[in-house]
Amino acid sequence: MAHLFEPAASGRSKCRGCAGPIQRGELRFGERVPNLFGEGETTVWFHPLCAAYKRPEPVLEALAGTTVSVPDREGLERAALGSAANKRLQRIDGAERSPSGKANCRCCHQPIARGSWRIRVVFYEEGRFAPGGFVHLACRRSYFETGEILNQVLKFSPDLSDADREELIRAFEADQAAS
Ligand SMILES: [Zn+2]
Ligand SMILES: [Zn+2]
Repeated sequence: MAHLFEPAASGRSKCRGCAGPIQRGELRFGERVPNLFGEGETTVWFHPLCAAYKRPEPVLEALAGTTVSVPDREGLERAALGSAANKRLQRIDGAERSPSGKANCRCCHQPIARGSWRIRVVFYEEGRFAPGGFVHLACRRSYFETGEILNQVLKFSPDLSDADREELIRAFEADQAAS
């Protein structure tokens, strides 16, 4: 079986990309991965856009082969092609304020100050995403080779309050202006 798009039959599946629920009837993306606990393959479910950002190749493959009508197909394709261009972009898992000053940035290896913004990084392996550390907001250009990652960062930051989202957007703008 190949990767697929299909409407969710129940509201019980969770997106592997953002951990949020997939509503019943909502179109979901299924990536076929080897079954780690037995024989054959199993399906890992995503919101289509979450998969486009984090698993672009399987999404592009499915888009090319599907007969299902996919809403905002062009937007999905654009997101997937963007992420496919650089593997590191597929690691973006949102942003948060650093709760302590203990973690070092993956990019510059300097500590990330308590209370400052950091971008979460995850590594994909066999159907799962494992925590991979953090990158300073200002180091994103060196690490991801582009500064244009705000939409993707916001997409994977569902826990931010509205005020924090606005501050994050302003922090991106301020950093953009300073560069
Ligand atoms: Zn999702
Ligand atoms: Zn850094």
